[in-house]
Amino acid sequence: MAAKIKKCQISIIAPVYNESKNLFLFYERTKKVLENMKKTFEIIFINDGSKDDSFDKMLKLYKKDTRVKIINLSRNFGKEIAMTSGLDYSSGETVIPIDTDLQDPPELIPKLYKKWEEGYDVIYATRSKRKGETWTKKWTAGLFYKVINIFTKFSIPENTGDFRLMDRKVVEAIKTLKEYHRFMKGLFSWVGFKQTGIYYERDPRFKGKSKWNYWKLLNFAIEGITSFSYAPLKFATFFGSIISFFSFIYALFVVFKTLILGIDQPGYASTLVVVLFLGGIQLLTIGIIGEYIGRIYNESKHRTLYFARDVYGFDKKKKIK
Ligand code: UDP
Ligand code: MG
Repeated sequence: MAAKIKKCQISIIAPVYNESKNLFLFYERTKKVLENMKKTFEIIFINDGSKDDSFDKMLKLYKKDTRVKIINLSRNFGKEIAMTSGLDYSSGETVIPIDTDLQDPPELIPKLYKKWEEGYDVIYATRSKRKGETWTKKWTAGLFYKVINIFTKFSIPENTGDFRLMDRKVVEAIKTLKEYHRFMKGLFSWVGFKQTGIYYERDPRFKGKSKWNYWKLLNFAIEGITSFSYAPLKFATFFGSIISFFSFIYALFVVFKTLILGIDQPGYASTLVVVLFLGGIQLLTIGIIGEYIGRIYNESKHRTLYFARDVYGFDKKKKIK
């Protein structure tokens, strides 16, 4: 039997994709905070297929600090999956996913932890200010939360990233969710438990550029909505019914008009408008259905979520899920 993994009090889950310039400072700041708290901890870096020397830097940290662990994924899987792998490997009583670009200040961890000691299971960190972000990003992010909260039956806290502290039982609950389309913020909320939030001012990214762009954000929003709601399908049905109803009324009108007044000049423009409009609606609703079918297709393959090329600091016999 493999040796039992020693439990620590805090597991830090840090997904890394090309964060070479931020890694050391992230490590120093986080380590300092955790050491001051006098808790046992592990810092799990997940190398999400970085193309720079992030991995070498992680290895350096791993070699000098036994509390540093690494999951080296076989390629870039995206932050959601990187975090998932971190959750799978974590062993702490509490688990904290945090960005390595220092946008989530590690100095907030003691506050989160205090709330946990008060008996909360999930303490998420809500941004009261987002420094260094354009107003369009803030506005679209705000819109995103509004839309998603209309569509889903549980509420996803606004202006809240993945940065939060979770009790072990919440992590175990999330680990049972094996879906391929992982909208983590949604899953974190969906599992329930006793949740609360604290406010903080989000700093700008320390070095490097955000991997986000509006195309990704749009896809992320579609992912969020379709993962938790089939309201768009209902919308398609509803819209289809309304249009059919009015078309029927109009058809009756045309028939009677023809019977009473005879055939008049054919209306080219109006016909074209109706055809184009209906064509558009049809494509839109097929698109919506397509989004869901695509997801059914992906989920039905039951693919393994990720592969780790190698891991450092964990029990060697641990299975890679
Ligand atoms: N990240 C990752 N895989 C990716 C993209 C990002 O692990 O494919 C990590 C990244 O290294 C950072 C965090 O996820 O630690 C947040 O990324 P980013 O700063 O680009 O997002 P933003 O803060 O702009 O939402
Ligand atoms: Mg960032």
